[in-house]
Amino acid sequence: MSKILCVLYPDPVGGLPTSYARDGLPQLTHYPDGQTLPSPEAIDFTPGELLGSVSGELGLRKFLEAAGHELVVVSDKDRANSAFDRELVDAEVVISQPFWPAYLTAERIAKAPKLKLALTAGIGSDHVDLEAASQAEITVAEVTYCNSISVAEHAVMQILALVRNYLPSHEWIVKGGWNIADCAERAYDLEGMHVGVVAAGRIGLAVLQRLKPFGVKLHYTQRHRLPAALEQELGLTFHTTLESLTKACDVVSLHCPLHPGTMHMVNEQILRGMRRGSYIVNTARAELCDQAAIVRALEGGQLAGYAGDVWFPQPPPANHPWRTMPHQAMTPHVSGTTLSAQARYAAGTREILECWFAGRPIRDEYLIVAGGKLAGTGARSYTVNAPSKVLAHT
Ligand code: NDP
Repeated sequence: MSKILCVLYPDPVGGLPTSYARDGLPQLTHYPDGQTLPSPEAIDFTPGELLGSVSGELGLRKFLEAAGHELVVVSDKDRANSAFDRELVDAEVVISQPFWPAYLTAERIAKAPKLKLALTAGIGSDHVDLEAASQAEITVAEVTYCNSISVAEHAVMQILALVRNYLPSHEWIVKGGWNIADCAERAYDLEGMHVGVVAAGRIGLAVLQRLKPFGVKLHYTQRHRLPAALEQELGLTFHTTLESLTKACDVVSLHCPLHPGTMHMVNEQILRGMRRGSYIVNTARAELCDQAAIVRALEGGQLAGYAGDVWFPQPPPANHPWRTMPHQAMTPHVSGTTLSAQARYAAGTREILECWFAGRPIRDEYLIVAGGKLAGTGARSYTVNAPSKVLAHT
């Protein structure tokens, strides 16, 4: 018998919904690159229902208890001696979502001698100290692709929200106004602008593909160049450096993982080199950007807008400066946890657990760390030695 510790975000303030806005979800069979969707032997939840909050339990309780395991679900995770800390000491598996990350620091890993699997129900395992996990021979896995398109849609929405000045215009309507000039004084067309993505992986590429019909000029940078045919199809300009891309673009959307090579990549110097009035959208990880430098760039007008859904820490304190900085269209970390995405990552979590308990290999694309080193997607997208700043938050 194993103890599985699941850290999930709290239920809605009014409790779990008794009915939903829509009936069911569209049926998908494959991701855009042909990868198959999660394929557990069975599921015990209804796709389209809330699974990522405490009472949703990722639909895992029946399956785990039928196999004789213990499932403990908590949301209290950050304060000293949190429920997460108390339960971690004898857990074999920890499941956490990036939206409500259970920061698995080296200190916490040292206090969890039975921990063997850290499973991210979503994408992005930077909340785990990957070096400490490697040393402790903990397998780290995530549900690759489960919410990549969800995030791409959110990024495109936030680009348009900023450039078109959508949220301030909406607020005038709610306030009872009809202030056309107030709405229009910061509103532009996206058409004709230069839009660049930092990383054209699963999400970044989907953003480029979705933006092509808008008549924009598309740019990207990452370590490996895309196939020439794809560059040609989308009309992409490749940049070998972030600096080159940010100088050439009006809108920059960030889509790379957080690791030592990407920490604070958007800093004072990069911001100074951008065109005055640029926009940044960050649905990847907050710590890709220097938090204070973003605020200064918005206040000084170097940036015309900043949007995203990722923060540090999560949840951010009530006085986090990104809540109140000007010209922002921030949301909580929600882009990857639509009801559509939840159904996929709950199924993917179950698939990984089925493999784990049956001693079957976990899909290579789901692996971040295995056998004491980066593996699978982790070996392709991450580096270890995560800076302590990212992982010291408890
Ligand atoms: P992928 O693994 O498909 O893509 C990651 C890309 O990052 C790769 O193309 C890689 O290309 C690139 N990359 C890595 N390091 C660098 C670097 N130093 N500079 C430029 N590019 C780099 O992942 P996804 O697209 O699915 O997800 C990307 C990230 O988005 C996740 O790691 C996660 O942090 C975030 N995310 C956020 C979600 C949300 O809810 N907001 C949900 C899902 C993901 P190369 O190796 O060639 O550099």
